[in-house]
Order: sequence, then structure tokens, then C-alpha cells
Amino acid sequence: MALLAANWKMYKGPGETREFLAAFEPPDGVEVVICPPFGSLGAAVASGRTIFAQNVHWEDEGAFTGEVSTRILLELGVQGAIVGHSERRQYFGETDETVRLRAEHALAAGLRVIACVGELDEERERGETENVLRRQVSVLPEHDALVVAYEPVWAIGTGKTATPEIAQEAHALIKALLPVPVLYGGSVKPENAAELLAQPDVDGALVGGASLDVESFTAICQAATPS
Ligand code: PEP
Repeated sequence: MALLAANWKMYKGPGETREFLAAFEPPDGVEVVICPPFGSLGAAVASGRTIFAQNVHWEDEGAFTGEVSTRILLELGVQGAIVGHSERRQYFGETDETVRLRAEHALAAGLRVIACVGELDEERERGETENVLRRQVSVLPEHDALVVAYEPVWAIGTGKTATPEIAQEAHALIKALLPVPVLYGGSVKPENAAELLAQPDVDGALVGGASLDVESFTAICQAATPS
């Protein structure tokens, strides 16, 4: 079954979260995960849907201002977390090593994990995509609660989507390195979702901008339903 994850980034407070989830009815035949910002997690969990956080720390507790622990997430009823999103890597100094620590600790604590990997524009231009993916994937543990999201950084929030062929090639490589489901992320929209999701190694999508609107996210979920 395809997995469709909505990454809301720093959008939607508790009120907008409740509003979205009251109106959202995912189609049968797909698994949907909503990833709201930390302050909206409680409101999202109350909807009964599967909710993931957008990050999680590797210590159980401590002096780590601005971070959140697995214990806090589990107490809230959150079922998983994204780790290593490119915005965390680009703007907040996340490294392969911190992504590894976050992923390992979250999995050990019983959370599911979506670990993001993907090359920068200049890395693709220089022909380094394969090396970058090999490096980023090499730190991730093989685990049945782990999913990888292939998110080419040049396609995130830019409107530039990877062609289905580019996505398929990267997904096949990732799955050869680590046999786990692989989601595609990067400007997925209702218009391009079906073609991307039809690729044999694309097991779902991590959707940013287009997941903020009930209608467009529902259309993407529908594109992933078995025909
Ligand atoms: C994301 O944030 O994970 C993402 C894929 O964003 P967008 O769909 O807006 O490109």
C-alpha cells in the first residue's frame, strides 16, 4: 500500500490543523501520515489520524533547547517522525551523523521514521548524485519501521519535479542499498503524482506545499490508490 505523508513544515496552528483534519477524508487503499509542526501535534492526534513529528532528538531528555524527545512524542500519541529533512540539513546544521542518531534512537524507542535523503542541484550537475545518496543512506539502519524519502533538494518547493525516470533511478539505487520502502518528495502535485507513483520503486510520496490544501492532498492520495 502506498504511503502518503504530508509535511506541513511551519504552517498550520492547532485551529487550522483541526479544520483540515475535519474536512480530510483519505481514500481507501493508501496509508496517510500527517506531519504538523510541534505545536499542532496534540490537535492532530485528537483527530485519530496517524501523526508524525517533523524531527526528534536522540536523548531521552536534557538541556537541548528547541528539541523534542521520543518520550514526549510517544506521550502525545505521535507514531513517528521525519528525520534529516533537507531544510534541517540546509538551515539548522543537520549532518549525516545527527540524522543517524535521530533515526536510530527514534526506531529504538518504537517510533516509525521517515529519513530524508537527496542531492543538491550542484551535486547533480557534477555527477555526484549516486555518491551523495550512497553516503546519506549508509548511516541509516535497516529496520522495518524505517522508510526513506528521496527528495532531490533542487525539487523541494521549487516547482521543479524530478522526471519519473530520475526518481525511479534514484529509488532503485536506494533500495539496492537498503531494502525499505522509498517515498518520492519534491513538488509533488495532483498533476504529476500519478506518473511518479506509477514507477515500480516509488512506494509513496512526501508532500510539502500541496499537502496544505485538503483538495490537492486528497487528489494526490487518490492518484496513489490501486486502479
Ligand atoms: C518537503 O518538504 O518534503 C517537500 C517535498 O516539499 P514540496 O512538496 O513543497 O516540494
